[in-house]
Amino acid sequence: MKLYVFDEHRIGVLVAGSQLVDITYLIDAHVVAEDRMTSLIANWDSCVDDIREAAQRGESLSDLTNVVILPPQPRPRTIVAAPVNYRRHQAEMGGQHGVYPGLQVHTIETYAGFIKASTSITGPSGAIELPFPDRRFDHEAELGVVIGRTAKQVSRHDAHRYVFGYVPLLDITMRGPEDRSYRKSFDTFTPIGPCIVTADEVQNSGHLDVKLTVKGEVRQQANTSDLIYDVPRLIELYSEAMTLQPGDIIASGTPEGVGPIEPGDEVVLTIETVGELTMRVTRREPAPPQGTLGCA
Ligand code: MN
Repeated sequence: MKLYVFDEHRIGVLVAGSQLVDITYLIDAHVVAEDRMTSLIANWDSCVDDIREAAQRGESLSDLTNVVILPPQPRPRTIVAAPVNYRRHQAEMGGQHGVYPGLQVHTIETYAGFIKASTSITGPSGAIELPFPDRRFDHEAELGVVIGRTAKQVSRHDAHRYVFGYVPLLDITMRGPEDRSYRKSFDTFTPIGPCIVTADEVQNSGHLDVKLTVKGEVRQQANTSDLIYDVPRLIELYSEAMTLQPGDIIASGTPEGVGPIEPGDEVVLTIETVGELTMRVTRREPAPPQGTLGCA
């Protein structure tokens, strides 16, 4: 199934090419709008038959071209990300001619992982907003893994049972000396979408073509078979440290070909079977004045 979040955080399942069936009514009305996908995933086993029936009835249809497509998981509780998880990406980051010249860059075997702020999520109707004119910002094309059930100390052999689905994901990065979690956590630095493709539609997450273009020029092209730690191993690694919860997202790492983006660029990430995410790049505007806190 292909699951979308659209308009006022309504949940839709794709039928017949470009039609969305609205299944928001299947989610507890008390759930905050931004948390509906988390709730749907957490209660998946008990509502999947109802979703299939609703898709078959095909009532309450909206055409994809007439809705605002939001990130398909607007508020994961945790985003955990794999650093340097492709060998050829390791080679381009360090050494004499790397992004960080002279630096010896290790791989995931050394760094293990880092956390991205969940507020860095955005989707196709948003834009990647670059905050500073004098810093370098890079695209990183990644397969995003959406966790389906609570995972604690899961072995790689069991890991597939914990995957809900997959999503194209961009791990936008400011280059520089700051900690990874800071440089990669600016608002809009984790675009995902346009939809979550459920795991049953992806035969082998370890063999998917990944391609990224900027203004039509191919920058990254690889296959997830080149991952140093594949998806099951990432779930093992991260669930060893932290409890992964339904709706959490793992960013699996980027292949070689990372490069700078600028305001005015259009970035297109295509992952075989999982989908195509198109994002605009803009300069960040100053934040509007915030309302006062507390009770009136
Ligand atoms: Mn990355």
